[in-house]
Amino acid sequence: MKLQQVSENCFAVLNESNRVCDANSGLINLGGGVVIDTQSDLPHGRQMIELFGTVWPGMPKRVINTHEDGDHVWGNQLFAGAEIIAHRTVRELMPKVADPRETRQLLKGADRFLTRMLLKALHPGVLAIARQLQQDYDFDGIELVLPTTVFEERHLLDLDGTEVHLIYVGPCHQIGDTIIHVPKEGVVFAGDVIFRACTPMGWNGTYEKWLKVLDFIIALKPTAIVPGHGPVCGIEGAIEMKAYLEYVREESRRCFGQGLSALAASKAIDFGPYGGWRGPARLYMNVERAYREFRNEAADAPWDHAQVFDAVLAVAKAKGIAVEF
Ligand SMILES: [Zn+2]
Repeated sequence: MKLQQVSENCFAVLNESNRVCDANSGLINLGGGVVIDTQSDLPHGRQMIELFGTVWPGMPKRVINTHEDGDHVWGNQLFAGAEIIAHRTVRELMPKVADPRETRQLLKGADRFLTRMLLKALHPGVLAIARQLQQDYDFDGIELVLPTTVFEERHLLDLDGTEVHLIYVGPCHQIGDTIIHVPKEGVVFAGDVIFRACTPMGWNGTYEKWLKVLDFIIALKPTAIVPGHGPVCGIEGAIEMKAYLEYVREESRRCFGQGLSALAASKAIDFGPYGGWRGPARLYMNVERAYREFRNEAADAPWDHAQVFDAVLAVAKAKGIAVEF
Protein backbone atom coordinates (compact mmCIF):
# COMPACT_ATOMS: atom_id res chain seq x y z
CA MET A 1 0.00 0.00 0.00
CA LYS A 2 1.36 3.43 -0.85
CA LEU A 3 0.38 7.08 -0.57
CA GLN A 4 0.43 9.32 -3.64
CA GLN A 5 -0.22 13.04 -3.90
CA VAL A 6 -2.33 13.75 -6.99
CA SER A 7 -2.85 17.53 -6.67
CA GLU A 8 -2.24 20.27 -4.13
CA ASN A 9 -4.82 18.92 -1.68
CA CYS A 10 -5.84 15.53 -3.08
CA PHE A 11 -4.15 12.25 -2.21
CA ALA A 12 -4.65 8.58 -2.94
CA VAL A 13 -3.81 5.39 -1.11
CA LEU A 14 -3.19 2.63 -3.65
CA ASN A 15 -3.19 -1.14 -3.18
CA GLU A 16 -0.41 -2.00 -5.58
CA SER A 17 -1.08 -5.75 -5.93
CA ASN A 18 -4.36 -4.72 -7.63
CA ARG A 19 -6.26 -8.01 -7.19
CA VAL A 20 -9.95 -8.32 -6.30
CA CYS A 21 -10.84 -6.21 -3.23
CA ASP A 22 -7.62 -4.16 -3.62
CA ALA A 23 -9.59 -0.93 -3.85
CA ASN A 24 -8.04 2.53 -3.62
CA SER A 25 -8.94 5.28 -1.16
CA GLY A 26 -8.78 9.03 -1.59
CA LEU A 27 -8.27 12.02 0.67
CA ILE A 28 -9.26 15.64 0.08
CA ASN A 29 -7.24 17.45 2.67
CA LEU A 30 -9.50 20.47 3.13
CA GLY A 31 -12.48 21.44 5.29
CA GLY A 32 -11.67 18.96 8.04
CA GLY A 33 -10.72 16.19 5.64
CA VAL A 34 -12.78 13.95 3.37
CA VAL A 35 -11.88 10.29 2.89
CA ILE A 36 -13.19 8.49 -0.18
CA ASP A 37 -13.75 4.73 0.31
CA THR A 38 -12.50 2.88 3.34
CA GLN A 39 -10.78 -0.38 2.21
CA SER A 40 -11.75 -4.05 2.40
CA ASP A 41 -10.87 -4.92 5.97
CA LEU A 42 -9.81 -3.31 9.23
CA PRO A 43 -6.02 -3.90 8.89
CA HIS A 44 -6.02 -2.25 5.45
CA GLY A 45 -8.31 0.52 6.73
CA ARG A 46 -5.93 1.23 9.61
CA GLN A 47 -2.94 1.26 7.30
CA MET A 48 -4.76 3.72 5.03
CA ILE A 49 -5.51 6.01 8.01
CA GLU A 50 -1.85 5.85 9.02
CA LEU A 51 -0.70 6.83 5.51
CA PHE A 52 -3.21 9.68 5.22
CA GLY A 53 -2.19 10.68 8.77
CA THR A 54 1.20 11.70 7.40
CA VAL A 55 -0.49 14.59 5.52
CA TRP A 56 -3.60 15.37 7.57
CA PRO A 57 -3.60 16.17 11.25
CA GLY A 58 -6.67 14.32 12.59
CA MET A 59 -9.56 12.03 11.79
CA PRO A 60 -11.65 13.35 8.88
CA LYS A 61 -15.07 14.87 9.38
CA ARG A 62 -16.47 13.17 6.30
CA VAL A 63 -16.33 9.87 4.43
CA ILE A 64 -17.72 9.23 0.95
CA ASN A 65 -18.57 5.72 -0.28
CA THR A 66 -18.42 5.62 -4.09
CA HIS A 67 -20.77 2.59 -4.15
CA GLU A 68 -22.04 -0.32 -2.07
CA ASP A 69 -19.38 -3.02 -2.61
CA GLY A 70 -17.59 -4.37 0.46
CA ASP A 71 -14.11 -3.45 -0.75
CA HIS A 72 -15.10 0.24 -0.61
CA VAL A 73 -17.06 0.33 2.66
CA TRP A 74 -15.70 -2.25 5.11
CA GLY A 75 -13.45 0.24 6.88
CA ASN A 76 -16.33 2.69 7.59
CA GLN A 77 -16.43 1.75 11.28
CA LEU A 78 -12.91 3.16 11.76
CA PHE A 79 -14.26 6.69 11.22
CA ALA A 80 -16.39 7.03 14.35
CA GLY A 81 -18.57 10.14 14.36
CA ALA A 82 -17.83 11.07 10.75
CA GLU A 83 -20.58 12.00 8.32
CA ILE A 84 -20.73 9.15 5.77
CA ILE A 85 -22.09 10.27 2.41
CA ALA A 86 -23.30 8.09 -0.48
CA HIS A 87 -26.00 7.77 -3.06
CA ARG A 88 -29.44 6.86 -1.66
CA THR A 89 -29.29 3.32 -3.06
CA VAL A 90 -26.00 2.57 -1.27
CA ARG A 91 -27.67 2.73 2.14
CA GLU A 92 -30.37 0.33 0.92
CA LEU A 93 -28.04 -2.08 -0.84
CA MET A 94 -25.03 -2.35 1.46
CA PRO A 95 -26.69 -4.80 3.88
CA LYS A 96 -27.55 -7.05 0.93
CA VAL A 97 -24.39 -6.96 -1.19
CA ALA A 98 -21.74 -6.22 1.44
CA ASP A 99 -22.67 -8.43 4.39
CA PRO A 100 -19.25 -9.23 5.93
CA ARG A 101 -20.68 -12.32 7.66
CA GLU A 102 -21.14 -14.08 4.32
CA THR A 103 -17.53 -13.51 3.31
CA ARG A 104 -16.28 -14.63 6.73
CA GLN A 105 -18.36 -17.82 6.47
CA LEU A 106 -16.98 -18.52 3.01
CA LEU A 107 -13.39 -18.18 4.21
CA LYS A 108 -13.97 -20.27 7.34
CA GLY A 109 -15.75 -22.92 5.22
CA ALA A 110 -12.78 -23.06 2.89
CA ASP A 111 -10.64 -23.91 5.92
CA ARG A 112 -12.74 -26.88 7.05
CA PHE A 113 -11.75 -30.15 5.43
CA LEU A 114 -15.18 -31.43 4.43
CA THR A 115 -16.42 -28.08 3.16
CA ARG A 116 -13.19 -27.69 1.27
CA MET A 117 -13.63 -31.07 -0.41
CA LEU A 118 -17.21 -30.22 -1.30
CA LEU A 119 -16.27 -26.82 -2.67
CA LYS A 120 -13.47 -28.36 -4.68
CA ALA A 121 -15.88 -30.83 -6.24
CA LEU A 122 -18.86 -28.55 -6.75
CA HIS A 123 -17.43 -25.04 -6.94
CA PRO A 124 -13.69 -25.02 -7.59
CA GLY A 125 -13.85 -21.32 -8.50
CA VAL A 126 -15.34 -20.46 -5.10
CA LEU A 127 -12.53 -22.36 -3.38
CA ALA A 128 -9.98 -20.52 -5.56
CA ILE A 129 -11.32 -17.03 -4.72
CA ALA A 130 -11.61 -17.95 -1.03
CA ARG A 131 -7.95 -19.04 -1.04
CA GLN A 132 -6.89 -15.77 -2.69
CA LEU A 133 -8.91 -13.66 -0.25
CA GLN A 134 -7.40 -15.59 2.69
CA GLN A 135 -3.95 -14.64 1.42
CA ASP A 136 -4.82 -10.96 1.06
CA TYR A 137 -7.41 -10.13 3.73
CA ASP A 138 -8.67 -10.61 7.27
CA PHE A 139 -12.40 -9.93 7.42
CA ASP A 140 -12.70 -10.43 11.20
CA GLY A 141 -14.36 -7.70 13.24
CA ILE A 142 -16.02 -5.87 10.36
CA GLU A 143 -19.35 -4.32 11.22
CA LEU A 144 -21.35 -2.67 8.52
CA VAL A 145 -21.65 1.09 9.08
CA LEU A 146 -24.19 2.64 6.73
CA PRO A 147 -24.13 6.11 5.18
CA THR A 148 -25.56 8.84 7.41
CA THR A 149 -26.22 11.31 4.56
CA VAL A 150 -27.63 10.25 1.21
CA PHE A 151 -28.35 12.19 -1.96
CA GLU A 152 -30.21 11.67 -5.21
CA GLU A 153 -28.43 13.19 -8.24
CA ARG A 154 -25.75 15.55 -6.94
CA HIS A 155 -24.29 16.66 -3.64
CA LEU A 156 -22.06 19.70 -3.22
CA LEU A 157 -19.45 20.16 -0.51
CA ASP A 158 -17.71 23.47 0.10
CA LEU A 159 -14.34 22.74 1.69
CA ASP A 160 -12.73 26.02 2.73
CA GLY A 161 -13.92 27.57 -0.55
CA THR A 162 -13.04 24.56 -2.74
CA GLU A 163 -16.09 22.95 -4.32
CA VAL A 164 -16.37 19.17 -4.34
CA HIS A 165 -19.08 17.69 -6.53
CA LEU A 166 -20.50 14.25 -5.83
CA ILE A 167 -22.19 13.12 -9.05
CA TYR A 168 -24.41 10.06 -9.25
CA VAL A 169 -23.58 8.10 -12.41
CA GLY A 170 -25.08 4.66 -11.69
CA PRO A 171 -25.90 2.11 -12.57
CA CYS A 172 -22.91 1.46 -14.80
CA HIS A 173 -20.60 -0.84 -12.81
CA GLN A 174 -22.83 -1.05 -9.73
CA ILE A 175 -26.14 0.55 -8.78
CA GLY A 176 -24.80 3.26 -6.46
CA ASP A 177 -21.87 4.46 -8.61
CA THR A 178 -20.79 8.00 -7.72
CA ILE A 179 -17.82 10.00 -8.96
CA ILE A 180 -16.24 12.87 -7.03
CA HIS A 181 -15.04 15.89 -8.99
CA VAL A 182 -12.77 18.56 -7.52
CA PRO A 183 -12.73 21.10 -10.41
CA LYS A 184 -10.28 23.55 -8.82
CA GLU A 185 -7.66 20.79 -8.53
CA GLY A 186 -8.50 19.00 -11.80
CA VAL A 187 -9.13 15.73 -9.97
CA VAL A 188 -11.77 13.01 -10.37
CA PHE A 189 -12.13 10.14 -7.92
CA ALA A 190 -13.84 7.67 -10.26
CA GLY A 191 -14.67 4.76 -7.97
CA ASP A 192 -15.13 1.53 -9.92
CA VAL A 193 -16.25 3.35 -13.06
CA ILE A 194 -12.53 3.04 -13.87
CA PHE A 195 -10.38 -0.03 -13.32
CA ARG A 196 -6.77 0.54 -14.33
CA ALA A 197 -4.33 -2.24 -15.28
CA CYS A 198 -6.84 -4.82 -14.06
CA THR A 199 -9.91 -6.36 -15.66
CA PRO A 200 -13.17 -4.60 -14.73
CA MET A 201 -15.77 -6.48 -12.73
CA GLY A 202 -19.18 -4.95 -13.35
CA TRP A 203 -22.30 -6.17 -11.57
CA ASN A 204 -25.32 -3.98 -12.34
CA GLY A 205 -25.73 -1.62 -15.26
CA THR A 206 -25.32 -1.47 -19.01
CA TYR A 207 -22.47 -1.02 -21.45
CA GLU A 208 -24.22 2.02 -22.90
CA LYS A 209 -24.39 3.77 -19.53
CA TRP A 210 -20.83 2.83 -18.61
CA LEU A 211 -19.48 4.22 -21.90
CA LYS A 212 -21.51 7.41 -21.45
CA VAL A 213 -20.12 7.94 -17.97
CA LEU A 214 -16.57 7.46 -19.25
CA ASP A 215 -17.26 10.13 -21.90
CA PHE A 216 -18.60 12.37 -19.15
CA ILE A 217 -15.39 11.94 -17.14
CA ILE A 218 -13.29 12.71 -20.23
CA ALA A 219 -15.36 15.87 -20.83
CA LEU A 220 -14.54 17.08 -17.30
CA LYS A 221 -10.89 17.27 -18.52
CA PRO A 222 -9.31 16.15 -15.25
CA THR A 223 -5.54 16.20 -15.00
CA ALA A 224 -5.63 13.31 -12.52
CA ILE A 225 -8.05 10.42 -12.08
CA VAL A 226 -7.96 8.15 -9.05
CA PRO A 227 -9.57 4.92 -10.25
CA GLY A 228 -11.36 2.50 -7.94
CA HIS A 229 -8.67 -0.06 -8.67
CA GLY A 230 -5.17 0.40 -10.09
CA PRO A 231 -2.70 3.26 -10.53
CA VAL A 232 -3.57 6.96 -10.81
CA CYS A 233 -3.96 8.11 -14.41
CA GLY A 234 -5.09 10.94 -16.66
CA ILE A 235 -7.95 10.75 -19.15
CA GLU A 236 -6.06 7.99 -20.97
CA GLY A 237 -7.35 5.70 -18.21
CA ALA A 238 -10.95 6.50 -19.17
CA ILE A 239 -10.15 6.15 -22.87
CA GLU A 240 -8.56 2.74 -22.31
CA MET A 241 -11.54 1.53 -20.24
CA LYS A 242 -13.82 2.58 -23.10
CA ALA A 243 -11.67 0.70 -25.61
CA TYR A 244 -11.77 -2.43 -23.42
CA LEU A 245 -15.55 -2.35 -23.01
CA GLU A 246 -16.07 -1.72 -26.73
CA TYR A 247 -13.70 -4.55 -27.63
CA VAL A 248 -15.40 -7.05 -25.31
CA ARG A 249 -18.89 -6.04 -26.40
CA GLU A 250 -18.02 -6.43 -30.09
CA GLU A 251 -16.30 -9.78 -29.57
CA SER A 252 -19.24 -10.95 -27.45
CA ARG A 253 -21.69 -9.90 -30.16
CA ARG A 254 -19.78 -11.94 -32.72
CA CYS A 255 -19.77 -15.03 -30.46
CA PHE A 256 -23.43 -14.54 -29.51
CA GLY A 257 -24.26 -14.52 -33.23
CA GLN A 258 -22.41 -17.81 -33.61
CA GLY A 259 -24.54 -19.37 -30.88
CA LEU A 260 -21.71 -19.77 -28.35
CA SER A 261 -22.51 -19.71 -24.63
CA ALA A 262 -21.03 -16.86 -22.57
CA LEU A 263 -18.50 -19.29 -21.11
CA ALA A 264 -17.50 -20.71 -24.50
CA ALA A 265 -17.24 -17.16 -25.84
CA SER A 266 -14.98 -16.11 -22.95
CA LYS A 267 -12.68 -19.04 -23.68
CA ALA A 268 -12.64 -18.19 -27.39
CA ILE A 269 -12.17 -14.41 -27.20
CA ASP A 270 -8.55 -13.32 -27.34
CA PHE A 271 -7.45 -11.20 -24.37
CA GLY A 272 -5.95 -8.87 -26.98
CA PRO A 273 -3.90 -6.01 -25.53
CA TYR A 274 -5.51 -6.61 -22.12
CA GLY A 275 -3.87 -9.97 -21.32
CA GLY A 276 -1.31 -8.21 -19.13
CA TRP A 277 -3.98 -6.70 -16.86
CA ARG A 278 -4.56 -8.38 -13.52
CA GLY A 279 -7.30 -10.99 -13.49
CA PRO A 280 -7.70 -11.30 -17.29
CA ALA A 281 -10.10 -14.25 -16.93
CA ARG A 282 -12.58 -11.89 -15.21
CA LEU A 283 -13.37 -11.24 -18.89
CA TYR A 284 -16.19 -13.76 -18.36
CA MET A 285 -18.16 -11.25 -16.28
CA ASN A 286 -18.02 -8.66 -19.04
CA VAL A 287 -19.02 -11.20 -21.69
CA GLU A 288 -21.94 -12.36 -19.54
CA ARG A 289 -23.04 -8.73 -19.07
CA ALA A 290 -23.00 -8.23 -22.84
CA TYR A 291 -24.97 -11.44 -23.29
CA ARG A 292 -27.58 -10.25 -20.78
CA GLU A 293 -28.08 -7.18 -22.95
CA PHE A 294 -28.28 -9.20 -26.16
CA ARG A 295 -30.94 -11.38 -24.45
CA ASN A 296 -32.81 -8.22 -23.33
CA GLU A 297 -32.46 -9.15 -19.68
CA ALA A 298 -32.71 -6.59 -16.87
CA ALA A 299 -29.52 -4.69 -16.06
CA ASP A 300 -29.98 -5.59 -12.40
CA ALA A 301 -30.75 -9.29 -12.92
CA PRO A 302 -29.17 -11.19 -9.98
CA TRP A 303 -25.85 -13.02 -10.36
CA ASP A 304 -25.08 -16.54 -9.22
CA HIS A 305 -21.73 -15.70 -7.65
CA ALA A 306 -20.57 -19.31 -7.32
CA GLN A 307 -21.23 -19.88 -11.00
CA VAL A 308 -19.35 -16.67 -11.89
CA PHE A 309 -16.23 -17.67 -9.92
CA ASP A 310 -16.32 -21.18 -11.41
CA ALA A 311 -16.56 -19.67 -14.90
CA VAL A 312 -13.61 -17.33 -14.28
CA LEU A 313 -11.55 -20.35 -13.17
CA ALA A 314 -12.67 -22.32 -16.24
CA VAL A 315 -11.62 -19.46 -18.55
CA ALA A 316 -8.19 -19.24 -16.89
CA LYS A 317 -7.72 -22.99 -17.28
CA ALA A 318 -8.76 -22.89 -20.93
CA LYS A 319 -6.24 -20.10 -21.53
CA GLY A 320 -3.50 -22.00 -19.71
CA ILE A 321 -2.94 -19.32 -17.05
CA ALA A 322 -3.07 -19.44 -13.26
CA VAL A 323 -6.41 -18.11 -12.08
CA GLU A 324 -6.43 -14.71 -10.41
CA PHE A 325 -9.46 -12.79 -9.28
ZN1 LIG B 1 -14.10 -2.26 -6.12
